[in-house]
Amino acid sequence: MKLERKTKVVVIGSGPAGITAAIYLKRAMIDFILLDKYTPGGKVNTTGEIENYPGFSKVTGPDLAFKFFEQLQAMDIPIDYGDVQTIEYQNPGFKVLTDEEIIFTDFVIVASGTQERRLNIPGENRLSGHGVSYCAVCDGNLFKGKVVAVVGGGNSALQEAIYLSTLTEKVYLLHRRQGFRAENRLVKRAQKTPNIEFILDVIPREIIGEMQVEGIVIENKLTQEQSTLAVDGVFPFIGMNPNSNFLKQFPIINEQGFLIVHDNMMTDIDGLYGAGDINDKELRQIVTATNDGAIAAIDISHRVQ
Ligand code: NAP
Repeated sequence: MKLERKTKVVVIGSGPAGITAAIYLKRAMIDFILLDKYTPGGKVNTTGEIENYPGFSKVTGPDLAFKFFEQLQAMDIPIDYGDVQTIEYQNPGFKVLTDEEIIFTDFVIVASGTQERRLNIPGENRLSGHGVSYCAVCDGNLFKGKVVAVVGGGNSALQEAIYLSTLTEKVYLLHRRQGFRAENRLVKRAQKTPNIEFILDVIPREIIGEMQVEGIVIENKLTQEQSTLAVDGVFPFIGMNPNSNFLKQFPIINEQGFLIVHDNMMTDIDGLYGAGDINDKELRQIVTATNDGAIAAIDISHRVQ
């Protein structure tokens, strides 16, 4: 038998969006439960260096996540462990079913973020943890003085390639076209970094190695020629998939699984909100995540009081 609890608001996820929602709910003196299945901080925990969050000229992701956590502790906000399996709409209110308990609540703020997309090529799964890594800040130290390949052309790939270039002998930046999704500033900085070599118009085809990564097979998109780069590590940063499986039953997610919300962060289901990277939006940043969390919490506070 699962434990049953009742609260006013369940916040799912303790990244910047969930944490900010929790801070605002606490200040509004609303009863809530903040749930996460991982460490507080969300994706911030696995980010190298952050230079675009006000108040911090330069801060590592784990350090900023720790500051978030300290603020929660100072405000006496606990994070409960919970892996949400599904949510039932009870019109009004919701039943949130986690792996351990059932929570009855009037409102839900979904701030469960995203997870790394995989390349889905031979060798990737087998060598994951043996040279294939999705977290430069966690595993970068293992590649000191070595050669690595970063795959992708978005902010994550460029940012983490720059971070890895400070630890490794050489970074190959492999991207499938000439243009980049990443901010120009990051592209320019990476281009100016002597030990980052850009290889463009290539598609990774296989990661090779017996027990450990030894190389990556790439195909030139224009000539279809294949070649092998000798590398000790491969870091795919090719985008994110939303953690929204537990919402599949609701008609509020787009084709990619991102949550469609109104300006007040509420979905078309009354009382069900989305905040942070899980939302269907243009700009996924820590500041936009905190913005969403605050708006959702304040909207709820207006309805509760
Ligand atoms: P992203 O912006 O979606 O970029 C993904 C990159 O991977 C694209 O260049 C894409 O190529 C490439 N790609 C996708 N599938 C691929 C495949 N199968 N094989 C090879 N390459 C593939 O993802 P992201 O960099 O993880 O960023 C996610 C969100 O977080 C974005 O909104 C981003 O702005 C934000 N973010 C911001 C910061 C910051 O502000 N400092 C840092 C990190 C992330 P194409 O371009 O050809 O599609």
